[in-house]
Amino acid sequence: MKPVYVTQPYLPPLAEFIPYLEKIWANKILTNGGPFHQQLEQALCEYLGVKHIALFTNATIALVTALQALRITGEVITTPYSFVATAHSLLWNGIKPVFVDVDARTLNLDPERIEAAISPQTTAIMPVHCYGHPCDVDAIEKIADTYNLRVIYDAAHAFGVDRSSGSVLNHGDLSILSFHATKVFNTFEGGAIICHDAKTKLRIDQLKNFGHAGEVTVVAPGINGKMSEMNAAFGLLQLKHIDEAIARRKEIDAMYRELLVPVKGVRCLGDAGEQKANYAYFPILVDGTYPISRDALYDRLKEQGIHPRRYFYPLISDFPMYRGLPSAHRENLPVATVAAQQVLCLPIYPLLEDAQIRRIVEIIAAQ
Ligand SMILES: *Cc1c(COP(=O)(O)O)cnc(C)c1O
Repeated sequence: MKPVYVTQPYLPPLAEFIPYLEKIWANKILTNGGPFHQQLEQALCEYLGVKHIALFTNATIALVTALQALRITGEVITTPYSFVATAHSLLWNGIKPVFVDVDARTLNLDPERIEAAISPQTTAIMPVHCYGHPCDVDAIEKIADTYNLRVIYDAAHAFGVDRSSGSVLNHGDLSILSFHATKVFNTFEGGAIICHDAKTKLRIDQLKNFGHAGEVTVVAPGINGKMSEMNAAFGLLQLKHIDEAIARRKEIDAMYRELLVPVKGVRCLGDAGEQKANYAYFPILVDGTYPISRDALYDRLKEQGIHPRRYFYPLISDFPMYRGLPSAHRENLPVATVAAQQVLCLPIYPLLEDAQIRRIVEIIAAQ
């Protein structure tokens, strides 16, 4: 059997992409906010139900730019249970990350622990909608309002996720999406910042284009974060297929949940109250009642050609550039520490077949 990876990029039929390429070749606009870039921004605003979106070359540059756009300094409260780019974006801005533990049910930043971590230097909170499950945005907003803090969501996993009040991306000051090849919606590489007013959108657009505000005017030390026409065109094509891709993910999610019910020691993460989920990941938690350790299970699966991922292990706070911080101590992060030891993200992507899902669960059940 062919190896099964945790994800496989979703690619529409190649023939459907050719007409887009022909347009690029005909008009010879390759980047700098060309027609496909403009079309994708508009199409995504409509699809996601958000007001403004600024496309980026990737989510990491978008995170770095988002912090610049709001002039964040000092300390930022964030989660250790994420991809390392979340905290790296803070270090790239000379900001000190302050790690706060996660909620055991959602593995998102625990709002109850945020207040204790606020200091006079705190200027913002950077939570992550982990696995696409919304954070407790209302509780976080309340704390931010009380202490006059900004909120920047790393929403890299949260494409198309809605709460009953609409898109989860409408919460916080800014939200950042990733369109990396491994994400639910991809443009090969890509990302975006969602904001709520035209003035902020203009500042972000300037910052991602070297700080240019006109041909001979530079208003800020910006970066080059622009998405190219090729990536934007692919995004437009991808958007035509995204609903069917998410629908198949939903089926896979349901199948795993049903098949895993009788397996002792394996817990599936529940939803976080989202009205529309995106089924970006399928994390399981392997606890002490399972016959072997999470790592032993990970190895057994790999021996059989199945390649799950330990998202998120190690914790960000355990990497060398973070572990010296007082907030990085494991005693400060007990829930995240256990989750990092127990989690395994099983393969989930639109072309994953039912037979492969059954085989994965059979191997898990047979230990
Ligand atoms: C993928 C990811 C990123 C980085 O996205 P890129 O587009 O690859 O730069 C940031 N944060 C989280 C939580 C991610 O999963």
